[in-house]
Amino acid sequence: MMDYSILLVGNPNVGKTSLYNRVTHSLEHVGNWHGVTVSEVSKTVPYGDNKVTMTDLPGLYSLSVYSPEEGISRDKILAGNFDLVVNVCEVNNLSRNLYLTLQLLEARVPTVLVVNMMDELSKQGKKLNCAELEKRLGIPVVPMSAKYRTDVNSLMSICIDKIEKHKSNGSRLTYTDKLPLDKVTALIKAEAVRAGFEPRWAAIKALENDSFVLEKISLDSRQKDALNKLGDTQALVARVRYEFIDSLTAGLIEQTGEHKRVRKSADGISRIDKIVLNKYLALPIFLLIMAAIFIITFGVVGKFFSWLLELGIDKLLYIPVTRGLGKSGCPEWITGLVCDGIINGVGGVLVFLPQIVLLFVFLALLEDSGYISRVAYMTDGIFRKIGLSGRSAFTMLMGFGCSATAVLTARGLEDEVMRKKTVLLTPFMSCSARLPVYSAIAAAFFSSGSAVIIFGMYVLGAAVALLLAALFEKFVTPLKSGKLSFIMEMPPYRFPVAERVFQIIFNNVKVFLIRVGTVIFGLNVIVWALSNFSFTHGYVVGTDFRSILEVLGGLVAPVFKPFGFGNWKAVTSLLSGLIAKEMVISSIESLGGIEAIFSGANPTLSAFTFMVFTLLYVPCVATLAAIRKEAGFKWMLFSLALQTGVAYAVALIVHTVGLLLIYKTGITVGVIIAALAAAVSIFTVMGLIKGKRRRTCCVGGCKNCGAGCARGIGADNETKI
Ligand code: GDP
Ligand code: MG
Repeated sequence: MMDYSILLVGNPNVGKTSLYNRVTHSLEHVGNWHGVTVSEVSKTVPYGDNKVTMTDLPGLYSLSVYSPEEGISRDKILAGNFDLVVNVCEVNNLSRNLYLTLQLLEARVPTVLVVNMMDELSKQGKKLNCAELEKRLGIPVVPMSAKYRTDVNSLMSICIDKIEKHKSNGSRLTYTDKLPLDKVTALIKAEAVRAGFEPRWAAIKALENDSFVLEKISLDSRQKDALNKLGDTQALVARVRYEFIDSLTAGLIEQTGEHKRVRKSADGISRIDKIVLNKYLALPIFLLIMAAIFIITFGVVGKFFSWLLELGIDKLLYIPVTRGLGKSGCPEWITGLVCDGIINGVGGVLVFLPQIVLLFVFLALLEDSGYISRVAYMTDGIFRKIGLSGRSAFTMLMGFGCSATAVLTARGLEDEVMRKKTVLLTPFMSCSARLPVYSAIAAAFFSSGSAVIIFGMYVLGAAVALLLAALFEKFVTPLKSGKLSFIMEMPPYRFPVAERVFQIIFNNVKVFLIRVGTVIFGLNVIVWALSNFSFTHGYVVGTDFRSILEVLGGLVAPVFKPFGFGNWKAVTSLLSGLIAKEMVISSIESLGGIEAIFSGANPTLSAFTFMVFTLLYVPCVATLAAIRKEAGFKWMLFSLALQTGVAYAVALIVHTVGLLLIYKTGITVGVIIAALAAAVSIFTVMGLIKGKRRRTCCVGGCKNCGAGCARGIGADNETKI
């Protein structure tokens, strides 16, 4: 019995994670955009008599890398402590994908090539001659459609066969003859060997101007001069590789049937993109899509399912248990704990399960369809002006799901300052755990308009994040990133198969139920106990003694007096929300319900302000931990202060404007302030949109755009739509 280690390596978005999930029966995050996988993931599975450890890695275009997550993959490949690399390529971009393959072969990495997305090729009525490619490349080539149920066994047996028989790559990389390799190898040999590199390989990297290798071999000025004298060798290496790729792929793809899908118009831009990315239509279409998602999630559909669950919990659990416990004559505090603390508290969150699952399904659809990349593209113009890039839009939109996991996706951002900024701003995007809070409060105070109010919360969160980005760019020197170029690829539109939709539903239900059953349940018991027992006098209900939370919460309560919810119950709810945001509503439920908390002079306004505060203050400790991981302890403290400060300031503005609007004397002032704010925002946004539109991305293979997507070999591509 042997233990084999196999790495999955390839360009971003070619289906590595899909294949990993198939082989290891996992549910790792798959999405139709670049930078979904940001850290390595491994799992060991039995195969025959052996065990195989598969490792899924972030995508990379070349071994000369640009972003930290690509660095993870490069380091792993160069470390060499594995048995085999499965290099996943996408058949529609075979030429560009093979660029990385050649680099693996140059490094003599034992490789098996998987050509994925064969289904897309056959939809175009085309066929790939895999046997011929195998012959030309000198390594096994396996066709695959990882998105669909496929037989991964044959791939595994080819891999194991290659490992066990110590089959080397039979590749003849004839293009290296066109490079001045002998000369450079002689020049740097001693340094390369000292750094632990194979000299000829290090020579190619030196010609490529690969900073990682050059740093390690640290050449002296004489050697550097000699290298410089050779001219633009970086372009030369790229050119000879691409010429070789041309010879590899020539005549490999044949049109054998009818072309069923016309995806691109004559200029290479898909017809859907012509509409979706149209100068005037892009923003309205985006807002319409988001509005539709929120209306379905929080409107009739989501509410109906939530109502069903609520009815079920009430009729099947709350009423019978209360009756049962009443009859059994058990102490009053037990009934209180079980019925109010647990069933009401936990149930208060549980009823939002359908809405949260719906939201995740829609987010997954946005991701899988490839639309999220279009959002990144169209926001790039505005985002650049405020020191972010369209790439930040991925992370921020992911923030609608879970702030903590979204923060981690920022690792794909190439610039460090921009990454920090994105990490700091993502928590302002309203995560799904905040949804139950809005839903419950909006339903109590804004019945018919609740969907609009909730949508407003999401818009407010995004607006605050963008405004802060602009302020950082202008006034906070360590957070100024300037206008950086952004290379992204526009993936083709793809649609998830039913299997995947069920997986998303199943996975989110599972994660949510585990969360509710552990963290939320446990915290509810604690909150209930602390709010029903006093330091000195035990169970306090029905007595004049103050509970532990009443005393402690009472100390902080005055801070929230200006908002009309300066009571210990509201404070306790907000504080418990630091552990998990759902706890805010769960605590409210177990502390006597929404009405008990917003009982001041203007309960509706207070409730609205409470929602705004919940939206903007620290999402949860897990998010803080993620921020610490990505940006460091200092920035985590900054983010803590920022979020608390911003939440307080915005809540104060909202409450003050609200009061001015409510009290007749202030109505004109209130309307003027609101109208002014709206006008300023609209003009600012319009001004930003009018700026120059740039597209730094590639719609086809390298051959189509000549932009040098393998990075470092060409300038950014700029196409106007
Ligand atoms: P990774 O970035 O290489 O890990 O790629 P993912 O596994 O996240 O997949 C990227 C996108 O390609 C997702 O939308 C997948 O659903 C889609 N995809 C993966 N494999 C296939 C395939 O065989 N056929 C098609 N049509 N789409 C695929
Ligand atoms: Mg992946």
